[in-house]
Amino acid sequence: MRKRFIAGNWKMYKTTVEASSLARALAAEFGGLTDRRVMVAPPFTALTAVREALAGSPILLGAQNAAAELEGAHTGEVSPRMLRDVGVAVVILGHSERRHVYGETDALVNRKVKLALAEGLEVILCVGETLDERQAGVTEKVVGGQVRAGLAGVASLAGVTIAYEPVWAIGTGRNATPEDADAVHRTIRGIVAGLYSPAAAEALVIQYGGSVKPDNAAALMRMANIDGALVGGASLKAETFVPIVRFDR
Ligand code: PEP
Repeated sequence: MRKRFIAGNWKMYKTTVEASSLARALAAEFGGLTDRRVMVAPPFTALTAVREALAGSPILLGAQNAAAELEGAHTGEVSPRMLRDVGVAVVILGHSERRHVYGETDALVNRKVKLALAEGLEVILCVGETLDERQAGVTEKVVGGQVRAGLAGVASLAGVTIAYEPVWAIGTGRNATPEDADAVHRTIRGIVAGLYSPAAAEALVIQYGGSVKPDNAAALMRMANIDGALVGGASLKAETFVPIVRFDR
């Protein structure tokens, strides 16, 4: 049985004071939560403050990116070992903003995935097609290619979550229908079954991301292959993130 996993990506929002305040509010809400996993990924600058605010809470500390190197002359980069050092448990890799705004390739994302896992971090590997790709009917080919490339050389899926995030649905208020999203999730599970095993595919948690809000979370999460959500905008306020996490209450 796959455990639900709902993650908030705070992107480049929130000062340390704002981030701690939101983290404290979420910690107060989710103190006894055991039937699902919850994560927040503040900006790097607020990781330590959020870790302190989450002390004693089951909420996982996430990061939004990591370098593909452990250390060295890489100005502006933060390595997975440094993330572990400040208490990060999970790192989001291959987010569409990293791929499309900062030019991250499948090969770079794959190096990041392998290094982060080797350093003991869990990984949320993001995949998703652009609007042009969806309209050209190549969604499954694109997403399948990103899954295969992102996981190349990864021996075990322990510590790996996949987030399917159609690029056209991120921050736009447009979201895939639950049926459309579930179809892509099913395709991903099929690819993973071929790459690893049917049991590994059955155990894999696949999040949906793209304009998830309190009013659409339940319908998405009711689908057989949607196991959680990666939430951007609606994770920035407790009033919208809490009901998404409690989508079935
Ligand atoms: C995201 O940042 O991963 C995301 C899905 O954003 P939003 O929920 O705002 O569409």
